[in-house]
Amino acid sequence: MPASTRVLVTGAGGFIGHHLVKRLKADGHWVRGVDIKLPEYEDSSADEFEVLDLRKYDNTLLATRGGIDQVYNLAADMGGIGYITASHADISRNNILINTHILEASRLSGIRRFLFSSSACVYAQGKQRNADAVPLREENAYPADPEPGYGWEKLFAEELCRYYFQDYRFETRIVRFHNVYGPLGTYEGGKEKAPAAIARKVVLAKDGGEVEVWGDGKQTRSFMYIDDCVEGLIRLMASDYCEPLNLGTDELMSINGLVKLVSRIAGKSLTLRHDLTKPQGVRGRNSDNTRLNRVLGWEPSIKLEIGLEVTYKWIESELRKAGRIAEAKSAVR
Ligand code: NAD
Repeated sequence: MPASTRVLVTGAGGFIGHHLVKRLKADGHWVRGVDIKLPEYEDSSADEFEVLDLRKYDNTLLATRGGIDQVYNLAADMGGIGYITASHADISRNNILINTHILEASRLSGIRRFLFSSSACVYAQGKQRNADAVPLREENAYPADPEPGYGWEKLFAEELCRYYFQDYRFETRIVRFHNVYGPLGTYEGGKEKAPAAIARKVVLAKDGGEVEVWGDGKQTRSFMYIDDCVEGLIRLMASDYCEPLNLGTDELMSINGLVKLVSRIAGKSLTLRHDLTKPQGVRGRNSDNTRLNRVLGWEPSIKLEIGLEVTYKWIESELRKAGRIAEAKSAVR
């Protein structure tokens, strides 16, 4: 991408968007960030940051105005398994509005390339019933049986991107993320994902104490560190590929395994307490990176224990700044 490229990142107040803005600025591009909120943990490095609700069509026209070349559409109402299981109507309505409006505004504003952030939640649930998960290939999203709510709206938005390419030759890119984690992401409040939630619980647990795990902990996933995620996004945008593409690692890990890894990083010996009333999502999910390797000649490579250590230390420092670690010690059972 030429250094003069003008880029819009939607969802720039969120986890992936904020990191992507930093990287695009470091690469010398002009960046506008848009979100319904400011980044929570540090200032945005975008040249312009506008607080706009992208569910409203007029705001998507404002966001895409002024000779923008590329749009990374990362804005979405989303969260961890608790949130996406409990909020089908809100998530579907909000994200359908954001995605349809930003896509049309981008086309009308003459954007040259548009990247949509989809999810591994689009994959057919019937293919994810075993913890010993067969890695998912891109074609496994059909026949369609995605996650209720969040998976369906992502799958529909993927289709919409394809229709825009077919009908208008509008250049779209579609990425399917598999569990992204790293510093500067939400770690509490209900919208956090498993790695951040587990890191927070381990930080707050006393050595020799307990950690609550949702489900029996035997459910499996693969996890991608944020730097790999951003690298993959930039490579996909620069490619000519307009079909959906997995972006994740193929290092399968159970939730129990994740807790043990984080406990080891923390140097704590902890007992796992399983709460079987809590949602755990599909039983097993992994990424098949054959197509990713073929299209980009690259795949994520940052090892889970390396990325988790950075993430753990960041969450620990946030909780320490907030005075929560001392509180946790005095509240120990
Ligand atoms: P995030 O929640 O940190 O960021 C999303 C941002 O979108 C938030 O800052 C939120 O305020 C913003 N947003 C929500 N509604 C908006 C609105 N009406 N107008 C403007 N902005 C709005 O999530 P993230 O992890 O950075 O995810 C980015 C994208 O990647 C999303 O599309 C998400 O669905 C997708 N994704 C993420 C993961 C992951 O593991 N993090 C996995 C699969 C897919």
